[in-house]
Amino acid sequence: MAVPGSCEHSFKMIKSDTTLLLWQCNICTSGPHWYIYECQNCKLKTCRPCTAKA
Ligand SMILES: [Zn+2]
Ligand SMILES: [Zn+2]
Repeated sequence: MAVPGSCEHSFKMIKSDTTLLLWQCNICTSGPHWYIYECQNCKLKTCRPCTAKA
């Protein structure tokens, strides 16, 4: 598992189908979001704007 920061992130959007499962952005701590972008390599979870700067 790659360390966030040295990873060439490959984000995939994941959506929650329940309000019980929400995510916070790992970078800017915004949220909770009902959808999040998760890197398939290092599992970093970020909001939409952060996928561009991660
Ligand atoms: Zn990554
Ligand atoms: Zn963010």
